[in-house]
Amino acid sequence: MRSLEDLLELQGLDSSIDRLLDRRSHLPQLAAFRAAHQRLERLDAEITAAAATRRELELSEDRAEGEMKLDEAKVQREEQRLFAGVGLTAKDLTHLRDEVAQLRERISRREDEALALIDQQQAAAARLAGLEAERRVTLADKERLEAEIAAEWKAIDAELGRLEARKRETVPLVDPELLDLYEEIRPIKEGVAAAALTDGTCGGCHLKLTAAEEIQVRREHPPRCLHCRRILVTR
Ligand SMILES: [Zn+2]
Repeated sequence: MRSLEDLLELQGLDSSIDRLLDRRSHLPQLAAFRAAHQRLERLDAEITAAAATRRELELSEDRAEGEMKLDEAKVQREEQRLFAGVGLTAKDLTHLRDEVAQLRERISRREDEALALIDQQQAAAARLAGLEAERRVTLADKERLEAEIAAEWKAIDAELGRLEARKRETVPLVDPELLDLYEEIRPIKEGVAAAALTDGTCGGCHLKLTAAEEIQVRREHPPRCLHCRRILVTR
């Protein structure tokens, strides 16, 4: 009977180990950590794209400013010729005046374009700053979760170590054949192969045995539940 009691002790240890292993791999922080990790990856991609957009807008604005400066220099030159008026025919003057007017129009258009680009650039910079702020918060979250998971795992692993040590002491106390049967049943019975029979009720499937069934069960070696076939430890 000692062997059966020890088997029940082993079952208790195995169940505790199973619960801890399950908790270890299903910590709520793990799902949150994975979500934060994915959010960071998405943010990194968005930040890269937003930075490229801002850079493109900066280049476009630089280009627009550069072209505007060229036009302004040209208009200045043409106006000076116009003011000097030396050696120009009436036709030349008309032509120059038209050209100056056209250049002024183009400069004005380019100014509008440059202003629009500055607006877009500011919007892009604001978007980038927003994404970077979100990234900092997400990274801090991820690091906090990482620390929490590490602390939980450390505690669980210490408890697992303690249970495994007790298991190593208990296993040799169980009859090897009984142990084989136990290991055979455990995987197919949700981890519970041995249960106590208390007041005629199986601790594994919680079904009751009649008095006659109980007598029949107690005669078996080892006793096994008629309903679920688990090993029963009778007291
Ligand atoms: Zn049962």
